[in-house]
Amino acid sequence: MKLILLGPPGAGKGTQAELISKKLNIPHISTGDILRESIRNNTSLGEQAKKIMDQGNLVSDEIILGIIKERVSLRDCKDGFLFDGFPRTIGQADGLKKLNIDINLVIEISLPEETIISRMSGRRIHPPSGRSYHIKFNPPKIDGKDDETGEDLIQRDDDKPETVLARLEVYKKQTDPLIDYYLNLQKNSDLKFIKINGANSPQEVSKEIFRSFE
Ligand code: AMP
Repeated sequence: MKLILLGPPGAGKGTQAELISKKLNIPHISTGDILRESIRNNTSLGEQAKKIMDQGNLVSDEIILGIIKERVSLRDCKDGFLFDGFPRTIGQADGLKKLNIDINLVIEISLPEETIISRMSGRRIHPPSGRSYHIKFNPPKIDGKDDETGEDLIQRDDDKPETVLARLEVYKKQTDPLIDYYLNLQKNSDLKFIKINGANSPQEVSKEIFRSFE
């Protein structure tokens, strides 16, 4: 199964992606996580990406498609994968088609704008694994610590209020049009598109997503 999780920042894509990837036993591919790992490893890609990410802007389609092409060629992707945070532009979605990657299911997690900002300010992540939590909606078992390793959780630089607003604008302009893009594709292909209300609890959201697999 090849899946895409679409939705604004803060909609809970990372949390759901973890659950889906475990349930379906397919890799969770987050372009954001891959870029953050490059930053931690001080690669030239990381250096280029950091400035763009800190401003809440998008890394170029060319770089992102290069990352995806390499990632999906790895063996663990042979039975499918889950994209989280990719594609983010029409250019990336077209690039995916050119790579002959046929997506089976697009899951849109929707969330009203007012909720997005409060959600993002409470988000905490475990950098080595990409696991994400929310201090109120999805708290770790021990305050400030990752459930599996017990290591410290952090707040991402780009979850700071100024950047959150910039990211929202970018989302509306560049990523939101992908909803119509995939709705149209659904009419002419086997692709399935489902919309889930991300304002519900993470448990309810995942229940609804899992129901669509049946
Ligand atoms: P995320 O963790 O998915 O919220 O991504 C964090 C940041 O990484 C974004 O705000 C972008 O700057 C960058 N990024 C992640 N995925 C993409 C993508 N598919 N296209 C462009 N930039 C991306």
